[in-house]
Amino acid sequence: MRSSVGFRIRECDAMFDEDDLIMISALQHYCFCPRQCALIHIEQAWSENRLTAEGRLMHERAHEEGEESRGDLRIARAVMLRSFRLGLIGMADVVEFHRMEDGRWQPFPVEYKRGKPKMDDCDKVQLCAQAICLEEMLSVEIPGGALFYGKTRRRLDVAFDADLRRKTEAIARQTHELIASGRTPPPAYGKYCESCSLIEGCLPKKMQKKRPVKAYLSRMLSDP
Ligand code: SF4
Repeated sequence: MRSSVGFRIRECDAMFDEDDLIMISALQHYCFCPRQCALIHIEQAWSENRLTAEGRLMHERAHEEGEESRGDLRIARAVMLRSFRLGLIGMADVVEFHRMEDGRWQPFPVEYKRGKPKMDDCDKVQLCAQAICLEEMLSVEIPGGALFYGKTRRRLDVAFDADLRRKTEAIARQTHELIASGRTPPPAYGKYCESCSLIEGCLPKKMQKKRPVKAYLSRMLSDP
């Protein structure tokens, strides 16, 4: 089978069934906070705040612009992705295709983010997962991509090196395990909670205080 940009699409050995695929965005949620991931992907809880609304609009605008072709550059938007090896499904905001000297087109995924570059690797993991999906679908190697941040209006180039790939694969495994367990971890309050759209329902400070009482009661009840 051939894609619209002329690559052979490989039917690879599936490790996951179609029914077992999880959203690529779940990896970013897991990396940010496993409880947030469980609330969204197990309990289907989602709450929009100003930050998530701005992010959603940015993604929608990126998708609306349609396909483009300029010289040695082709741009595809809202590209469906999947990897049976890592068990992932999702959508890339933008995939650029750069024509190389030998005439082949090199895919280069670009993910749009509302804020600014972060200290953690969560956005990079999400982008790397997109690249791994494209590699599996198109039988190509993808050495890099970029994150575009709305606040700085700048691109951050991301190299898909061995460390980032290992981390992405480990997080994909852990996210599958969490979702398959059906169990939502308890909250662990941190500064990051202040930017979480689920903070109103999660109540991380209150819930954390309650845990010692719960542990005390269960100790009391289990004592002979
Ligand atoms: S409020 Fe904090 S602990 Fe709760 S889901 Fe959000 S990030 Fe996780």
